Amino acid sequence: MSDKVIHDAPNFLKQIIEKDIESGKHNGQVITRFPPEPNGYLHLGHAKSICLNFGLAEEFGGRCHLRFDDTNPDTEDVEYVESIKENIKWLGFDWGEHLYFASDYFQQLYDWAELLIREGKAYVCSLSEEELREYRGDFNRPGKDSPYRNRSVEENLDLLRRMKAGEFEEGEHVLRAKIDMKSPNMNLRDPLIYRIRKTHHHRTGDQWSIYPMYDYAHPLSDAIEKVTHSICTLEFQDHRPFYDWCIENLPTPGNPHQYEFARMNMTYLVMSKRKLLQLVKEKHVSGWDDPRMPTLSGIRRRGYTPSSIRLFAKRIGVSKAESIIDYEILENCVRDDLDASAQRAMAVLKPVKVVIENLPDGHVEEIASSLHPKKPEWGKRTLYFTKEIYIEESDFMENPDSDFFRLSPGKEVRLRNAYVIKCKEVIKDSAGKIQELRCEYDKATLGGKPTSDGRKVKGVIHWVSAQKCIEAEVRIYGRLFKVPDPENVPEGQDFRVNLNPESLKITPHAKLEWSLQNAAAEAHYQFERVGYFCLDSKDSKPGHLVFNMTVDLASSR
Ligand code: ATP
Ligand code: MG
Repeated sequence: MSDKVIHDAPNFLKQIIEKDIESGKHNGQVITRFPPEPNGYLHLGHAKSICLNFGLAEEFGGRCHLRFDDTNPDTEDVEYVESIKENIKWLGFDWGEHLYFASDYFQQLYDWAELLIREGKAYVCSLSEEELREYRGDFNRPGKDSPYRNRSVEENLDLLRRMKAGEFEEGEHVLRAKIDMKSPNMNLRDPLIYRIRKTHHHRTGDQWSIYPMYDYAHPLSDAIEKVTHSICTLEFQDHRPFYDWCIENLPTPGNPHQYEFARMNMTYLVMSKRKLLQLVKEKHVSGWDDPRMPTLSGIRRRGYTPSSIRLFAKRIGVSKAESIIDYEILENCVRDDLDASAQRAMAVLKPVKVVIENLPDGHVEEIASSLHPKKPEWGKRTLYFTKEIYIEESDFMENPDSDFFRLSPGKEVRLRNAYVIKCKEVIKDSAGKIQELRCEYDKATLGGKPTSDGRKVKGVIHWVSAQKCIEAEVRIYGRLFKVPDPENVPEGQDFRVNLNPESLKITPHAKLEWSLQNAAAEAHYQFERVGYFCLDSKDSKPGHLVFNMTVDLASSR
């Protein structure tokens, strides 16, 4: 990790937990959970929630459950279950034996629904969807009692059992909690707790014709698992009274409490699953794991590391106020992490050939160079200094500005880890395009040694041997959206108008130093002076290497 001291940003949840432990609430236990709906791939917002829930449990010696909230059979799929598990493991967290599915509790949730009916706290309502809406009222208008509100316990039980047995069509009946149709909180106006759905469920198959609503299943699942601190995003604040109602009115084994924090939003991104799906479907990106996507599979392929994401979650902290996190904070976390963990290499993305005239043909000099400047224990890599080398097109200027200190006719520059060279001549083709630069090297200057007569050479550039190098495709990514707030659009348009047409630039024939021959999947490299890179896990093959740029170097901004 970086040398910088990392202070945790303030975290009101920690203060709550500390107090609870002190007062002996929940017997001093801390049990949290991460409850994804298996209806899409995880993104950076989920990562924030994962780091928070698993992180708090870790810090206070508790545990965090992974629970799939699979109460909506219409949109769920096992494919998502597997990818979510893999993503959480990749982030470095472990639920141990505590893997659960809300569907595991369907029988218990159903039994409790019958109990609510027997206690006069729930009833079967037969209003149509439209009538339900009408009777519910709105913020300015109190709701009206359903005409079915006073059905007898027997009738309610009979109807619920027949709903369960599949005797009715979807929408014919629902089960509702009997609370208060005049409550200022809409969520307490006799909320739905069961609906009929004749859909195949990815785990329970066709066993059930009724499914519990999220607002009923969630608190009770928490309580069954004896979760102590149930942390969710702010939009559920108004749902908390019903959360508490469920716990208070049923003989649950646990007594969880819900706490809310602000969703994480980030500049230059959209983060809703629905919008990300649209980008995939309309082929604005190559898939869910396109390295420009804010999905965990995307950023992983891009080269972001789990530790950089955990560092990011720590740095931004948690708050109750909506805010938009600057994307650069994340990039800086990635840089800080990779600066410490990425081995160094040189790569020339847009090559121009340099011929060193005062070297004999066939000259090959091996130069040992450190794999990491601060980690001598990592050992060295071999660079090959040869008569022909490549430098970056942009490191040469024929008519340099006064503040240009790299190579230009008659001027000197230092080749990183090697020698000082001087440009003697520029060879062009008939169209005026530079073919090669004829140079001479100063033998005294190997590895940063001063020039023999004390001449000052300011600039340092990277280079690669032309005789001994490998070729690769290098993909350079910009931001997926060209403005900080892509969802802020004129009427009649949507976030897609803000897609950045320059978010992917391909350099098909970059020249890479020889040591990268053995580049490993998921290893991280700093191409000196350029940025951080990794092999593309999908498209790179022996014979056609593909590198992704993870992030550029801060100094180049
Ligand atoms: P989306 O709106 O992107 O579809 P979601 O909230 O529907 O996300 P879930 O699978 O229901 O996705 O979320 C699992 C957990 O992740 C929830 O506890 C949710 O609060 C949390 N979460 C989702 N998005 C964010 C976010 N942007 N910031 C923080 N937590 C989030
Ligand atoms: Mg959701």
